[in-house]
Parts: sequence; C-alpha cells; structure tokens
Amino acid sequence: MPESVLESTPRTEGLASFRNMPLSRTMRQSLVEAGYATPSPIQEALIPLALEGIDVIGQAKTGTGKTASFAIPLIEMLEEHGKSPQALVLAPTRELVQQIVGEFEKLGRGQQAKICGIYGGEPIQKQLRSLERGVDIVVGTPGRVIDHIERRTLFLGDVFHVVLDEADRMLDIGFRPDIERILKRVPDPHQTLLLSATISPEIQKLAQRYMFQPQELNLSRDEPSVESIQQYYVTVDQDRKLDLLIDILGRDKPRQCIIFTRTKKGADRLAEKLNRVARGVATIHGDLPQTARNRVMLGFREGTIPILVATDVVGRGIDVEGISHVINFDIPDDPENYLHRIGRTGRMGKDGVSYTFVRPDEGGPLTAIELMINRPIENFKVEGFQGTPKESNKPAFRELWNSGSKQASARPPQ
Ligand code: AMP
Repeated sequence: MPESVLESTPRTEGLASFRNMPLSRTMRQSLVEAGYATPSPIQEALIPLALEGIDVIGQAKTGTGKTASFAIPLIEMLEEHGKSPQALVLAPTRELVQQIVGEFEKLGRGQQAKICGIYGGEPIQKQLRSLERGVDIVVGTPGRVIDHIERRTLFLGDVFHVVLDEADRMLDIGFRPDIERILKRVPDPHQTLLLSATISPEIQKLAQRYMFQPQELNLSRDEPSVESIQQYYVTVDQDRKLDLLIDILGRDKPRQCIIFTRTKKGADRLAEKLNRVARGVATIHGDLPQTARNRVMLGFREGTIPILVATDVVGRGIDVEGISHVINFDIPDDPENYLHRIGRTGRMGKDGVSYTFVRPDEGGPLTAIELMINRPIENFKVEGFQGTPKESNKPAFRELWNSGSKQASARPPQ
C-alpha cells in the first residue's frame, strides 16, 4: 500500500479526516487502499459541497490533491450503470486526461465505475469500443470530445456532473469555443465543478454563463507544493547553460528531474546533447506521437527515465511523485507558468528544488516572477563555474550518474 504523504503534514494532521465525510464503505476502503489517510485542504472543502450537488469554483493547483477532490464525490454520486456517461470531465492535455483516468480507476474500482479517457493522438477505435460497451465517466480533451459528439459516438444527454479541470489552461490553449459547444449539449439541470489555478475575468465570465450560483473556494493560500520548494536562480550566458546544467545534475544527482525549455526544438536539441553524457534522458512535447509520449511517461513514472526535457504545455500536467528537481533551462515566458513548472516537484508537501537559468538580459522576467510569488528567489552561485568550462566536468558527471548513485536526494545545495 502506498504511504500516505499527508500523514506527515502537520498542517492538516488531526484536524481533517475522511471519517467526517458522508462517504460509502466502498469508497472508504478505496481510500485506504490508495493510502489516502487525511484529506488535503481542497478535498476537505470541495467533497462535502460537491456531494450536496452544489456548483463550485475551486481555485487550486495541481499537487494539492485536486483530482481526488472531484473524483471521490463523482464516483459516490454515480447512479446505476447505464450506457451513456453520467459525468464528463474536461482537461487541457492528454497527459492530464490519463492522470485523471488513473485516479478515477484507483478510487472507483470498488464501485466498478467505468471510465473512458478520450484524447487525440491515439487510434480512435479503442475509444469507440470503450464508449460502445458503456461508460459512467468520460474524461477528455475538448477537441476529441467534440470529435466524438460529431461522430455521434458520445451522447451527453445523461450527463449530470461536469468538471472543468485546469479551466484557465483550457482557455489559454484556445478551447473556449469547444468548451461552450460541449456545455450546450449537457442537459439542465446539471452540476458543474470548475477547477482553476487562477480565477481570471474570463473564467468568471464562463462561470456566470454556465454555472448556477457557484460557491467559490480559494485554496491557493494553502498551497503546499510551492511552499516546500527551495527555489534558486543562476545567472548564466546562453552558451554556458548546458555546462551549468551538467554541473548541477552532477552535483545534486536528482532522483528525478524535469528540465523545461521554451521551444520543442530546444527540448529535442537539449535532450540529444544530454544523452551524450547521461543515461535515461528523454524528451516530451506536443509534436511527439501519442504512443511515444505514453512510452516516455511510463518510463518517467517507473523511474527508468530519470531526466525529462519538456515544454510547458505537456510538462505542466505531469504528476509524478518522485520529482526532486525542476530546472528552468529557459526562463518561462509567463510568470504564471513558473508556478506550474516548479509545481511538478514538491508534490503533496514533499521537498523539491528548482533552479531557473537567467541570462544577463532577463532580469525583467525574473523580477516579474518574484513579484508574482511575492518573495525574492535566492541567487545560487555555482562554484567553479565562472570562467572557462572544464572538460573534466563531463566525465565526472557521467561517472557519478552511471555509478548508480541516483537515489541521492533533493537536498538543497550547500
Ligand atoms: P493532484 O493535485 O490531483 O495532481 O494530486 C497530487 C498527488 O497527491 C497524486 O499523486 C495523488 O495520488 C495524491 N493524493 C491525492 N489525495 C491524497 C490524499 N488525501 N492523501 C495522500 N495523497 C493524496
């Protein structure tokens, strides 16, 4: 049984309990099996409201247990299994859809809930067969959901619960028209749960139009993920970034690490160069075919791929508990993305480290990030790095990495 990471979180210990919630015996058993002993703040706040059938806008980021906060009540509220879905969850990326499906499967096994993930990039046949057999809950990206509606392979006439997960991200990607088309197909009355890292005026407009007297939950103050992350920036010239990265990887020996680049090409190039000096480097971005993305995510989850080079859109949804390091090889374009990126580590209150590489001309974007997170990021000076890079860095790093000492921790640099 997985260890419950929340048991050691003093913030909630002894205060909240799943016992105080009106949950079925089957669900309690699933929670025990999942190792969820204590609800996270978003779960504590959202589950009781959702079970009442109330519309909720929840401001919560990934890493706070938000998926289970809607999965638990949705599974509990399922009526007798029919053919068409009773609940529809929309999420921005394939990876996020797969993660949500995983959480539903884990928590819904007892109730024999039938879940189907629908997203682009994999043959539609598999999804068709699954829909054909009958499903209780559909989790999908808006584009593929529209596809199925148009093919008449997905009927939303029995949907009673809708979840818009990472709603801000879906709007950023331009899914607004798709979301609206989908919501218009869902019969009234229905319940809507909207989860978003930020509540922008756009989100509020969407809520006003499609939700009924929604209750707002702002749990961003309770965000354990970012609080528990040691954040550093390093000033570096563009042409020295690779050497700096190799130095840091060799020094910290991350258990698992995501490196963010600004572009897909940049991700490919960096992964290729890193592969010459380290084992288990892979890249993931939107141009990779779905099967390759699945393979990479599986390897990353299982730990056979310890270093993942990613771009924002795909990287931000990744939820793997063992990530000890996030390295911003390129500073994010948007300060909001900084939070999403570093939130890949420090999951559920575990420690994590992040380094942001800042070119001498990128003081402005760094300050914008500091203003947004409301605190200065510590400057980390890499010893011996200033000046001409030493060739000897590379073999030393390769030796360290291949010696099998990669279980080294997310300790902060000394
Ligand atoms: P999320 O914010 O939904 O991405 O969840 C982050 C991680 O926390 C996932 O790996 C979940 O399996 C895990 N998790 C969710 N709820 C709990 C809980 N109550 N106790 C322990 N772990 C949890």
